[in-house]
Amino acid sequence: MSDRHTILIVDDEEAIRDSCRQVLTKSGYECHTAVDGIEGLHLAHQIDPELLLLDLMMPGIDGLEVLDQVCTTHPHLVCVVITGYATIESAVDAMKRGAFDFLPKPFTPDELRLIVNRGIEQHKLLRETAALREEKERMKQYFITIVAHELRSPLLLVKQYLDLIVGGKMGSIDDTAREMLGGAHSTLTGLLEIIADWLKLARINAGDIAGGMEVIEVGPVLEKVASDMKPLADERGVSLRLERIARSCEVKAHAESLEVVFRNLVTNAIKYNSPKGSVIIEGQCANGNLRVDVRDTGIGIPEDELPFIFEDFFRVKSSRTAEIPGTGLGLSIVQKILEGHHGSVKVDSTIGEGSVFSVTLPLHLSDDGTG
Ligand code: ADP
Repeated sequence: MSDRHTILIVDDEEAIRDSCRQVLTKSGYECHTAVDGIEGLHLAHQIDPELLLLDLMMPGIDGLEVLDQVCTTHPHLVCVVITGYATIESAVDAMKRGAFDFLPKPFTPDELRLIVNRGIEQHKLLRETAALREEKERMKQYFITIVAHELRSPLLLVKQYLDLIVGGKMGSIDDTAREMLGGAHSTLTGLLEIIADWLKLARINAGDIAGGMEVIEVGPVLEKVASDMKPLADERGVSLRLERIARSCEVKAHAESLEVVFRNLVTNAIKYNSPKGSVIIEGQCANGNLRVDVRDTGIGIPEDELPFIFEDFFRVKSSRTAEIPGTGLGLSIVQKILEGHHGSVKVDSTIGEGSVFSVTLPLHLSDDGTG
């Protein structure tokens, strides 16, 4: 392959084609020409040029149509449209549709060289940006694999050994050793929770949920979350109640992620509650939306901290939260999952009285348009 930059000139006027070709060939570019849109599209596929000089006004398929097609098939191709003064509006239209710049007729060889040189620079930048993006994606996937396998798996193994020793399965140990190993066990448990949350977040960011969307009835999901969370609520002396929700309430969602959303919110509502407090989960479908409120009578969130609670690793620091374990990733996961479902989450909270987290998701409409 030649290392000269390749340019495709598509113009029905022979004089323009020839003069552009002469000027640009002298400047070291490899030039190909086409007499109309059809031939231009054909050549674009064949030679994969870096820059396209495209006349807008041509018989047959016009320049804008060519532009639309090549922008889809050749995302890095830089397109400069050639236009007469009378068609300056269509040149602006072309730029809105993805052209890099436009060259009004008549133009001088210098003007042509200048715009083409800039276009080629732009092409290089586009390619470099795409390569960097790919590299970033590769690094992210690599990092996810490292964390998942090289870090999480051995830590899990150590935790299992500690489970056995602390649980007395390996014979008796003295109290001091038990206390030390118990501390190591709970530190490890916290670390594994951070890794699990971080992996969830990384997978959501990598677009993992987009692939597995299905129509889901929301009632059973909330029932499952409420029943799974009951032991934790009992342990903390918090009452947990689920208000019934209509059977026909359906959303299009990634099932596992939807469960994670409600599980995280209900876990928080229990964790940050007061003794003898309560948690109520309430779902309703109306006006094309599902709305689920998770309401608690807990410690509440200071007003000036509210804007930050959905950020990665953010935790409210106070004497009441100091002893409550957490990673600061739960709400960030909730928000990212909901964004991936065109939904949202908002919070209303009063210090000392409690908080309400409200999830909104578009309902799945059945074929007859009902919710
Ligand atoms: P964490 O793992 O710390 O619970 P989250 O991202 O789920 O992380 O929550 C971020 C912070 O928001 C928590 O550390 C806590 O301070 C606050 N928070 C979340 N939910 C509640 C709630 N229901 N009541 C009071 N504070 C809450």
